[in-house]
Amino acid sequence: MKHILMIATGGTIASKSSDSGLKPLITSKELLGYVPDALRFCQADTLQLLNIDSTNMQPSHWLMIASAIREHYHDYDGFVICHGTDTMAYTAAALSYLIQNSSKPIVITGAQKPIDLEITDAKTNLLDSLLFASHDRAYGVTIVFGGKVIAGTRGKKERTKSYNAFSSINFPYIATIQDQHVIFYLDDKALLKQPVRFYDSLNNRVALLKLIPSMEAGVLAYLAGHYDAVIIESFGVGGLPSYESGDFRKAIEQWIEAGKTVVMTTQVTNEGSNMSVYEVGKTIKQEFGLLEAYDMTLEATVTKLMWILGQAREPEKIREMFYQTVNRDILYTATW
Ligand code: ASP
Repeated sequence: MKHILMIATGGTIASKSSDSGLKPLITSKELLGYVPDALRFCQADTLQLLNIDSTNMQPSHWLMIASAIREHYHDYDGFVICHGTDTMAYTAAALSYLIQNSSKPIVITGAQKPIDLEITDAKTNLLDSLLFASHDRAYGVTIVFGGKVIAGTRGKKERTKSYNAFSSINFPYIATIQDQHVIFYLDDKALLKQPVRFYDSLNNRVALLKLIPSMEAGVLAYLAGHYDAVIIESFGVGGLPSYESGDFRKAIEQWIEAGKTVVMTTQVTNEGSNMSVYEVGKTIKQEFGLLEAYDMTLEATVTKLMWILGQAREPEKIREMFYQTVNRDILYTATW
C-alpha cells in the first residue's frame, strides 16, 4: 500500500458558491473524503497549505509548496497537489525547477467544476492523480488532468471550460489514465540516475512583453528599470520590429549592456521559435546573443528564468542553465 501526501492549495476543485462567486472553502480532508476508492491502492494523509484561487498564486507560494514536499519527502511514496487550474501550468513548471530528479511522483491536479457538485470532473481527476502518484513507474513533476499525464514543464491550460482543459505542448503525453488504469507512453524511470535536488530561491524580477503591431520600444526601456529579465513574445518563429527609428535595437542594446537577460519566444502555442529563419530575427539575435525559448512553453520559460536568476548572475552561466533540459522542458536546441 503506497503512502501519499495530498497537499491542498484551493482552486475550483475545493470551491463552493458564495454571493461573491465561487471561492475555495472545502478542506483537504473533505476533498479526500470524495474519493473513497483511493483506499484500494493508497493510504493518504492531507496537508492544507493554502486555500486560495490560483489567480493569487505567487512565487513565494511555489517555494512554500516545494519546502513542504522537501520536509515530508522521506515520509511518503508520492505527492498530490490540488490546485486551481488558472495558474496550474506555472506552478507545475516552477516545481519542476525547484524539485529536480525526484524518483517519487509529484502530481498536480485540479478541476473545472467543484468536487461537491453532482456533475464534476474533480473526483476523476483526484482519483487519477492518487492512482498515478501510487504507481511504481511514475516519477518527477507532472500534471494529471482529464485522463492525461503531462510533464510538469509541458502543460498549458488551453480551454477555459471543458474538462480536457490541459494540453501537452511540443511533447507527447507521458501516460493516459482510463478506468483507473495507467497506460504509459513514456516509461523511462530507469534512466533517472541523479539524486533528488531541492532549490529554495527564485527571482521574481522577470517580465513578459507580448508584441502587437504598433508596439513602441519605449515599453522595453521602461521594463529595464524594473526587471532583471524580459521575455519577448514575438510573432511566428520570432523576430523584432525594425521600424525606421531602430528603437527596438536600441532598447535591446540597453538591456544587454546593463547585463540583463532577454529571451525571445513566440505567441504561437505549437512548434516553438527559431529566430534564425528571418532577417528580422537572425540579425538581432546574432548581434546581441539573445536567448530563445525554442520549444519551451511560456510557463516553463518564465519559471525557468526565475529559477536561474535565483542562482546565477553571469550571462554565460545563465545561458548554460537556460539551455540545459530540466524535466523534459527543452528539446529543440539544435541551432543555438
Ligand atoms: N479560478 C480558479 C483557480 O484557478 C479556476 C480553477 O481552479 O479551475 O483557482
